[in-house]
Amino acid sequence: MESQQRSPLLEVKGNIELKRPLVKAHSRLPLPGSSFKRGRGQMEDVVEPEKKRTRGLGTASKFAASQPRAPVRTTVPPTQGQTAAPKLPKKTGLRCSTAVATVLKNQKPGPAAPAQKPGTAAPPKLEGKKPSKRPAWDLKGQLCDLNAELKCCREKTRTLDQENQQLRDQLREAQQQAMDLGAERRTLEGELSRVRAQAEQGQQELGNLSAHVLELEERLSTQESLVEELQKEQLGLQEERRGLATRLEEQEKRLQASEAALSGSQAEVASLRKETAAQVALLAERGERLHWLEMERRRLHNQLQELKGNIRVFCRVRPVLPGEPTPPPGFLLFPSGPGGPSDPSTHVSLFRSDERRGTLSGVPAAPTRYDFSFDRVFPPGSGQDEVFEEIAMLVQSALDGYPVCIFAYGQTGSGKTFTMEGGPGEDPQMEGLIPRALRHLFSVAQELSSQGWTYSFVASYVEIYNETVRDLLATGTRKGQGVDCEIRRVGPGSEELTVTNARYVPVSCEREVEALLHLARQNRAVARTAQNERSSRSHSVFQLQISGEHAGRGLQCGAPLNLVDLAGSERLDPGLAFGPGERERLRETQAINSSLSTLGLVIMALSNKESHVPYRNSKLTYLLQNSLGGSAKMLMFVNISPLEENASESLNSLRFASKVNQCVIGTAQANRK
Ligand code: ADP
Ligand code: MG
Repeated sequence: MESQQRSPLLEVKGNIELKRPLVKAHSRLPLPGSSFKRGRGQMEDVVEPEKKRTRGLGTASKFAASQPRAPVRTTVPPTQGQTAAPKLPKKTGLRCSTAVATVLKNQKPGPAAPAQKPGTAAPPKLEGKKPSKRPAWDLKGQLCDLNAELKCCREKTRTLDQENQQLRDQLREAQQQAMDLGAERRTLEGELSRVRAQAEQGQQELGNLSAHVLELEERLSTQESLVEELQKEQLGLQEERRGLATRLEEQEKRLQASEAALSGSQAEVASLRKETAAQVALLAERGERLHWLEMERRRLHNQLQELKGNIRVFCRVRPVLPGEPTPPPGFLLFPSGPGGPSDPSTHVSLFRSDERRGTLSGVPAAPTRYDFSFDRVFPPGSGQDEVFEEIAMLVQSALDGYPVCIFAYGQTGSGKTFTMEGGPGEDPQMEGLIPRALRHLFSVAQELSSQGWTYSFVASYVEIYNETVRDLLATGTRKGQGVDCEIRRVGPGSEELTVTNARYVPVSCEREVEALLHLARQNRAVARTAQNERSSRSHSVFQLQISGEHAGRGLQCGAPLNLVDLAGSERLDPGLAFGPGERERLRETQAINSSLSTLGLVIMALSNKESHVPYRNSKLTYLLQNSLGGSAKMLMFVNISPLEENASESLNSLRFASKVNQCVIGTAQANRK
């Protein structure tokens, strides 16, 4: 590329270099008939005689000599003679003399030479050797010589003129040539500048191209490294391909084996399908049977509960607490059943000495024995789990769709709250009926879900104090404020009841139930006053609405489970003075006694199948009306204090419970929808 660009430059240069010497050489061309190489001496030799002769010729010659650049005259007037001939400038003179010398040299003695006059010595020949000097007297001879010389000079002048003319021609030619060369030079200069511009452009292009080349080289190296990488990758892939090919081969072999196995399996599958179809039919049949069995279980379970009695009464005697006086031995007895000590106890005997009778006769009267029999009696050592075992069946009835009511009846401090909610602290052994019943419900509901039953539970917890209903699950600003609630029917014509302003909380696990019980305890604590332990003066009603559904069969069942911690059943001490506090206490007690006796009356009325059941006589019976009587099942715990000082209250409680225990409420029917 460089060479290509460079070539025109070189060409031009070469031309220029070549042409310069050409011009020079041309200008130095020797003029025809002249010789520059002739030595000074030679020229002098030729000119000398003339010089000598022209010396002192006058001003004219001097003037001519002082104008060396004056043009050479082409003609010499023949009349002017020697003196008229202008003195040539040194150079011209030289050239002239040289030319003269040359002419003289080449001149042959022409016929124009003047004939020698007879009698005069022949003029000496110019050519060859110098003519010998004429004697002074030979004036003629001298004149003759001079004439000959003049002639010669004229000849020389003519020759010089011719030469001059030639030189002028040459000069013109040279000038023309110079002009041509100048034009040519300008053309060439133009060309040169164009070429230079081209060269510059070329340089620039070259620079660009170099940068481009560099870039390309860089790209090339990148591409090369990429190619290298790709080659490596290709190698790796080839390796992998080989591995895969091997694996493919293996897989194909396995596939073949599998295909063979598959055809075997397909036959097996066909037979298994047949078998499965048979089993599905069997399963459906079994499912049907299972459902029938479940229904049968419910029926039988209910029958069993009915046989046990729709109203059952359990007696529970709490242990003597630390710090309490030990009751006299034999104060309370728990005679064993007909099956011996292994039989669960159903009897309790209380011995009470009548002090008044003893005073009258003078001797201490023997203590009176009061015997009671219940469905079950739990002596002081009985644990919470033992108690729950007995009522677990009843809880099952609630799941099966029978309303259930469990009451704890007894004087304050006899262990009602302990039985229902549990003891203080986190000890799981101390857990009461409410948490145990709910845990049992959740687990049974879980089991029944495998049979297609879905259960949901909604809890509420209220207290009835002085015939007013308050929510124990109130939260936020309403917490412990005792906002009054009303018991209302859900809708006109509906049997279902609801408590206004009370929270109904869906529950699905134990922890949620624990949280609710904790909240209820907090609400009670806020409402408590120093004078009045209100919780013992009010009924606490924990209600759990159970709803079950068998979507596959379109079956639904639902029933409430009520766990009621009744207010203390103790009567007001008649010996107490009636201050303002006591009057309030009296009102409370009357309300409690009224509601408890209403409960008894309701149970009696139901037992006697009376047309009117006085549910409306108390808030408690009104709230529980759907869970009492008819299809409902009822269990009453009568809680007894082991202390002798509480014997009177214990006796009252046992009497009340006995009455309840004698009641039989008609055959229960499950609430099926
Ligand atoms: P109530 O609710 O009938 O007024 P509580 O349940 O509050 O009575 O019981 C009074 C006290 O007796 C509480 O300290 C309780 O822990 C305790 N107590 C009641 N029953 C038992 C029992 N079966 N075992 C142990 N302690 C009991
Ligand atoms: Mg209590």
